[in-house]
Amino acid sequence: MKLVVTNHNRDIFKTRYVYPVVSRRAGGLSLGINLNTNNACNWQCIYCEVPNLTRGKPDPIDLNLLRVELQDWLKNLVEGDFIEKHTDPGTRFKDIALSGNGEPTACKEFKSVLRIIEEEFTACKCPTDIKIRLITNGSYLSEKEVQDAWQEMPLEKEIWFKIDSANTLTIQQLNQVNLTQNQIRKNLESALSVSSTVIQTCLTKINGQLPQESEICEYVSLLKPYEKKINSIHLYSLARPTEQKTLYSLERLSDKEMIHIADKMDKLSIPIFTFS
Ligand code: SF4
Repeated sequence: MKLVVTNHNRDIFKTRYVYPVVSRRAGGLSLGINLNTNNACNWQCIYCEVPNLTRGKPDPIDLNLLRVELQDWLKNLVEGDFIEKHTDPGTRFKDIALSGNGEPTACKEFKSVLRIIEEEFTACKCPTDIKIRLITNGSYLSEKEVQDAWQEMPLEKEIWFKIDSANTLTIQQLNQVNLTQNQIRKNLESALSVSSTVIQTCLTKINGQLPQESEICEYVSLLKPYEKKINSIHLYSLARPTEQKTLYSLERLSDKEMIHIADKMDKLSIPIFTFS
């Protein structure tokens, strides 16, 4: 069985928390840690690929089990031949990503999980170019415990911070949350104060419509004050079908459409990468 970017099924390997995927945006193999095994998130993005997504927080984490799964996978990836056997030639182990089926920072044991990652990463002598990535919608990043836990984690780390739009109506439509620009700024500033940060923006055609010019301008204005601090922007579109019931028809953008939108963001001095 080969891992491919179009299949991120977390059930293939029968582990509860830790699972490998090949990721377009990570540029290789990403070892995911799913802290939301109950498929609960505080957002409900209409394009979300998590099946049976519910609104809420994660169940308590079995930290011993998470540690054992992480040990096994790190051994497989660093010392074993898993990558050669199950991925395309040239694929490299790129990151350990706190992602999964909901918002990872909602997890009460977030700090303990980071400590386990640090200990097992060190024990396994993982190459130091493997990053620890936090894939987040940012909503809990201004909470002190979350911020402190991330700041104290000594490994090479990066936050991937979701901002799909700066327009509150589009955020309601796409992410199904009420979020003001001030709240986005506060969460983003919290991320930037503790870590290298990459903006993750999922672009979709909704009922055949591309994001409007005015929305792109709002997005640029929101990020402009932070352009010196933001590492880069990833613009991506749907790689897999949504698992959510939605009245809207969602469509993936073409390469040309993604590049066209990236060009319209040229007032930002931030490197922009597109993944269609
Ligand atoms: S924030 Fe992520 S996990 Fe939560 S609903 Fe959106 S895409 Fe799904």
